[in-house]
Amino acid sequence: MSILDILTFPDRFLLNPTRPIENVDGDLQNRINDMAETMYAAPGVGLAAIQVGIDQSLIIFDADTEQKNGVYRVLLNPKIVESHGEIISEDEGCLSVPDFRSNVRRARSVLVEGLDRDGNPVSIEADGLLSIVLQHEIDHLQGKLFIDRISSLKRNLYRKRIQKSLNKS
Ligand code: ZN
Repeated sequence: MSILDILTFPDRFLLNPTRPIENVDGDLQNRINDMAETMYAAPGVGLAAIQVGIDQSLIIFDADTEQKNGVYRVLLNPKIVESHGEIISEDEGCLSVPDFRSNVRRARSVLVEGLDRDGNPVSIEADGLLSIVLQHEIDHLQGKLFIDRISSLKRNLYRKRIQKSLNKS
């Protein structure tokens, strides 16, 4: 296993839409293992393949904030098929958006369908942190970052700050 580099804003690769996974093979399992190691090392509660330079529809997550068990879940080709209510996700952050957090408006609960790492169909009903994590990671698969869901004023301030620090280095 190895820890992968996480792409960060404003890397344009993060804006790519992803392709559905068609082959559940050993390569995929290795990729998933590497992503898990990367997520726990960061640490983060979720990771989408696009964040490590793979434009495939694949996410992993472990919404247990203490992550004591190291038990994560995998979804291939996940889709939100139902969403209900509204909630403010407080101080949401992203491994690809360093040094920035913001409140984000999210659905309170979602029903997500996809495949597990062996290619078996699964559906997950989620609310609370898990619901937010799933929405956040599935956004990544459509080339969307959480800063696309905040005001353009806030987003532009962040962009300027990042641009400034890039110019310095
Ligand atoms: Zn993210």
